[in-house]
Amino acid sequence: MNGPSYHYLQVQEHLERLKLAQAVNVLDRVAEAATQGQWSYVEFLGKLLEEEIAVRQERRLVVKQRLAHFPWVKTVDQFDFAFQPGVDEKKIRDLATLRFVERADVVLLTGPPGVGKTHLAIGLGMEAIRAGYSVYFQTLSELADQVPRDRSDPKWAERLRVLSYPKLLIIDEVGYVPLDPTAAYFVFMLVCRRYEKGAMIWTSNKGFSEWASVFAGDEVLTAAILDRLLHHGTVVNIRGQSYRLREKTRAGTIVSQDRDSRDDKTMANMLRSVPNRSGEFQVAKNGEN
Ligand code: ADP
Ligand code: MG
Repeated sequence: MNGPSYHYLQVQEHLERLKLAQAVNVLDRVAEAATQGQWSYVEFLGKLLEEEIAVRQERRLVVKQRLAHFPWVKTVDQFDFAFQPGVDEKKIRDLATLRFVERADVVLLTGPPGVGKTHLAIGLGMEAIRAGYSVYFQTLSELADQVPRDRSDPKWAERLRVLSYPKLLIIDEVGYVPLDPTAAYFVFMLVCRRYEKGAMIWTSNKGFSEWASVFAGDEVLTAAILDRLLHHGTVVNIRGQSYRLREKTRAGTIVSQDRDSRDDKTMANMLRSVPNRSGEFQVAKNGEN
């Protein structure tokens, strides 16, 4: 039996030297298909390069996804709009076209725990990654923990620079943890830096009138932050029920499965004991969950 031809070995070596690893992997298969299908030389080369590019794109996506620092990955398509009729699907699909990223606009997702704010934020972030944008996700409390205590610390400017860089910055969970004045001021600086320059998605379980309690009780600073966020902002207020609580009560048990589930229970109880305070953030009516 004949071994591989000289030309074959040479092509393999060239591909390896050019670091076209996937082309090496699929060379036999594509060459075989080319013979079967009587492809032209150009068609064969096109197919081989296509395979290489596909693998590289996939790898780039994985790297970008890792850099984005998502706690988990969900897509817009995985969002059950039928379960949450209060969410305007058209509006979300429009956001998924990423015009807001190009225009450096802001999206604010608000509503009680479990209604899919983080899911939609990550879903839009995934769309942005697929489109080739840089994305970074952080909860507000993670962000605050990394703020140096002293504004003259060089790390202050460094952190600002790092968070100003991504084309889309997602700040999740405004409202769970109150910030001290230093961290609140840092967030104000960050918002000023990104204003009209870099797109952002913010999620919050609190109405805007309550945001001052998150930002160290500073009404003036909070108004300045909200003024910039809302200026070119799209607000999506999700008024529905918690998806998590529904899943758990369906299963007949409430088991702590993820990092927010305790909050859900506490929040649901709190909201039951203060029924319909704002009309907006009611999680569940008795008997429904
Ligand atoms: P929030 O950030 O509003 O507290 P999450 O986005 O963390 O809520 O949603 C809680 C869980 O429920 C996640 O696993 C999310 O994927 C899922 N979820 C929430 N809403 C929906 C929905 N409408 N369709 C599908 N999954 C949902
Ligand atoms: Mg969330």
